[in-house]
Amino acid sequence: MQAIGEVISRLNNTRMGSTSEICYEHTVQANGKEYTKEIKKITFDGEIFCPICERDRTTQELSDEEDLKIELAMGRRKYNVFHNQSVLTDEDLFDASFKTYAATKKEEIHNKELASKAFTSYRDGGTFTTWFAGEPGVGKSHLGMSILRNLNESGKKNKSCLFISVDEMFLRIRDSFDNKDSRYTELYFANLLTDVDYLVLDDLGTETGGSGTKKTASDFVMRVLYAITNGRQNKSTIVTTNLTRQELEKMYDRKLVSRLMKNIYVINFEDTTDKRIKKYEI
Ligand SMILES: [Zn+2]
Repeated sequence: MQAIGEVISRLNNTRMGSTSEICYEHTVQANGKEYTKEIKKITFDGEIFCPICERDRTTQELSDEEDLKIELAMGRRKYNVFHNQSVLTDEDLFDASFKTYAATKKEEIHNKELASKAFTSYRDGGTFTTWFAGEPGVGKSHLGMSILRNLNESGKKNKSCLFISVDEMFLRIRDSFDNKDSRYTELYFANLLTDVDYLVLDDLGTETGGSGTKKTASDFVMRVLYAITNGRQNKSTIVTTNLTRQELEKMYDRKLVSRLMKNIYVINFEDTTDKRIKKYEI
């Protein structure tokens, strides 16, 4: 009987051949003992190798390749969360960056630096809440977006970033109560906002009418905010708000506010006037 190598070698125009070399890497089990199984090495295109070792190596390479593909796809999916799933009332905000934040006053320059530091710290693995406070229109959302966008573009692409206009999110949830086809349910947002690595909650406190009103948050608002704060205890969140701690406590409850304000890095605007008004120049 001809050796199998010889048969194959003829089929392959003698590219493959048998050798007298043996691979001792393989074992067989018999009678509860392990024995070395000698595998005859072969030659192929002038190279000598063990066919079993070669098969194992190829299988491993293929599975590594698959793993890499999956990793890339997952990374891309996470990277796309920012553009595909963010909820903005003003789409122009997507263009906001540190570059386009016009800082002229002392406080603006200082706060821009603080925001830039927050970005660096997040990028290097820091976990905390950045808390932008101050009157409407001073650029809190702009800086919050700048941090987030930089995180999304920071190269690793394995972290998901999400910008949520709180008011718009609650409008969509409220709408889903009557609209059975809507995907924007309480559960959808609770899961999404809990899952992402970096989250901006923009304009917290405006959803119940804002400061100055006696209105308190409705049940579903409280449920969603509790779910988010619970789920994000070891994650980084960026909050922008026009309200003070006391105003927030009146609107929600102390327990929720103290959770929201745990481990916060404060960026406070006091002097800055409304940047949106200054925009128009002739
Ligand atoms: Zn081998």
